[in-house]
Amino acid sequence: METKAFATFSPDGEFVAHNIERRQLRAEDVSITIQYCGICHSDLHTARSEWGPAQYPCVPGHEIIGIVERVGSSVTKFKEGDMVGVGCMVDSCRQCSSCDSGLEQYCKEGFTGTYGSQLRGTDEPVSYTMGGYSQNIVVAEAFVLRLPKGLDPASSAPLLCAGITTFSPLKHVGLRAGHKIGVLGLGGLGHMAVKIAKSFGAEVSVLSRSVHKKQDAQKLGANHFILTTDKQELAAHLEEFDFIIDTVSAPHNLTEALILLKQEGTLIMVGASDKPIDLSVFPMILRRRKILGSLIGGIEETQQMLEHCAKHEITSDIELINPDQINQAYERMLASDVKYRFVIDCRKM
Ligand code: NAP
Ligand code: ZN
Ligand code: ZN
Repeated sequence: METKAFATFSPDGEFVAHNIERRQLRAEDVSITIQYCGICHSDLHTARSEWGPAQYPCVPGHEIIGIVERVGSSVTKFKEGDMVGVGCMVDSCRQCSSCDSGLEQYCKEGFTGTYGSQLRGTDEPVSYTMGGYSQNIVVAEAFVLRLPKGLDPASSAPLLCAGITTFSPLKHVGLRAGHKIGVLGLGGLGHMAVKIAKSFGAEVSVLSRSVHKKQDAQKLGANHFILTTDKQELAAHLEEFDFIIDTVSAPHNLTEALILLKQEGTLIMVGASDKPIDLSVFPMILRRRKILGSLIGGIEETQQMLEHCAKHEITSDIELINPDQINQAYERMLASDVKYRFVIDCRKM
């Protein structure tokens, strides 16, 4: 099945309209007409081969919301017309201990990413996955999420990556009322972290190098704003936080973040800089502080996150763009000029 998409053909190429092939429906498959797809900074890291050589043509996009168009013969969870989501994974081995415990993102054989991953089946028209910057996608029902009623489709798209990536570690560490958390970097992930941390009852401070985001931080629900370029201001918050969730997309100084943590505090790394980060062990040794990495979230947990967001009326703050504005959106994302997630209107593809 041919579908319209936007692809880039080299690390420094622009996105252009390009038709791609989707596989024929298998018994367990759901065919989805994509309505909206968020733009994650991981899309840019991948499309520009920043995390290693990508496969081209590259069609990113793993924050997908759409309508079920057709289902395979054994599908039981979905029917034509359902509003659904697809996040960062479209398959995994489905039998290792990680998959068995709902942690498909840590699949021992490696999960199949929504784009840029080797496909598992032998009946695929292409050898690697292509994502949501397109009009249609075919996904096994086990990796399709249900969009709860009451959530706006366009502004829910970013929940499928930015939402679950921040929800999962905050749940894992048991964030709750009485905890103080810092959110480092106020972009797509950062602004979701603020909303989700608030819904868990925590006291939230935004740590940003962009002074113009101060008012937004408050509007998003943060209790405090700390300008990280002001060393005096930073020094006033030493040993203050139980947790800091680091969403920064580029190399930066981790010591500056670690010393803001209390004794036993945890720095949660979700931002995935393409370059190694310089790290002194002393801020950890001297206060028994910890660093924790976290990758998106499992399928069941993603569904729980969507239900949580529906209950607490949480969606993303988005700027809806046309497909031919993707190149411009990438440049603006790099310039920290996003409020706070670009979402492509795939109906206009
Ligand atoms: P984004 O919207 O571009 O936000 C990143 C923010 O980081 C920027 O808005 C900026 O915030 C800050 N920042 C950027 N460059 C910086 C620099 N040189 N020094 C200090 N701060 C800087 O990106 P995103 O979509 O939220 O993604 C953030 C990172 O998370 C990316 O690396 C992405 O690949 C990664 N990610 C990881 C997972 C996972 O599972 N672990 C999932 C999704 C994404 P301020 O202007 O407020 O300082
Ligand atoms: Zn993402
Ligand atoms: Zn597995």
